[in-house]
Amino acid sequence: METQNKIRIAIQTKGRLNEDSIKMLEEAGIYLVKGKRQLVSSAKNFPLEVLFLRDDDIPQTVADGMADIGIVGLNEVMEKKEEVDIIQYLGFSKCRLSLAIPKSESYEDVSYFSGKKIATSYPVILKDFLKEKNIDAEIHEISGSVEIAPGIGLADAIFDIVSSGSTLVSNRLKEVEVVTPSEAVLVATPGLSDEKKALLEEMLFRIESAERAKGKKYILLNAPEEKVEEISNMLPGMKSPTVMPLAEEGWVSLHSVIDENVFWEIIGKLKAAGAQGILSIPIEKMIM
Ligand code: ATP
Ligand code: MG
Repeated sequence: METQNKIRIAIQTKGRLNEDSIKMLEEAGIYLVKGKRQLVSSAKNFPLEVLFLRDDDIPQTVADGMADIGIVGLNEVMEKKEEVDIIQYLGFSKCRLSLAIPKSESYEDVSYFSGKKIATSYPVILKDFLKEKNIDAEIHEISGSVEIAPGIGLADAIFDIVSSGSTLVSNRLKEVEVVTPSEAVLVATPGLSDEKKALLEEMLFRIESAERAKGKKYILLNAPEEKVEEISNMLPGMKSPTVMPLAEEGWVSLHSVIDENVFWEIIGKLKAAGAQGILSIPIEKMIM
């Protein structure tokens, strides 16, 4: 009998969320046992069970408590209106839900949509938006290939996910209203037991430590002693940089953690100030 406490997570079987969800768990040091095509899996080194589902089914599965937590697009959470707690915004699968119309149409404001037929896979979010804007339009629900609807005369406009906008362009459409941004979120069943809450906290702690390290570099450089202050001021590190004497008289080694972007911005200035042997090392985890 399995008596050990476990937490169960629902993630997408395949699709845009799947890989990044698994990657996020791995960055948190949680590795899944079986291939991702299995319906149920578990983690090798964490009391975690994994349920692979279509993203449409994740909000309800979590709301019902069949899964304790889940990774799903905010768009699906908003559409399904299931009772789940949004625990964390995860920063991947970023997109937006927008209204788009044929490129050739002229557009002034949202009143354009009065009396129009709008194709979408997100009727609930669209209905809420139209109601808020006091627009009476016809919603035509279709489950896929929404973007071709205007071209084949099935609708006047669409309401769909947009990220780069290239799908719109290739279907001669233009985005005219952004209704809501979306990204992957970690959701949880309301009222988790204390044991499961503790496991969730542990996962969040690990995820945040890996997240914090992203884009950060550990910088080492050698500098003449009299330049330490000038160079330190260029390095907006976590705390003041570590300064260590070198065997060569008058020289020190400086260590600090900085944003990769900042590194590229200040590299010229560092060299001009006399820094030598500059090393930039990736950081895996950062615990504050
Ligand atoms: P399923 O078979 O699981 O129902 P699906 O076809 O409904 O999958 P996907 O296309 O895999 O869904 O997209 C999953 C989620 O990824 C979307 O709900 C949305 O949150 C996000 N997403 C979709 N398209 C994009 C995009 N172009 N860029 C970024 N994120 C996106
Ligand atoms: Mg889906």
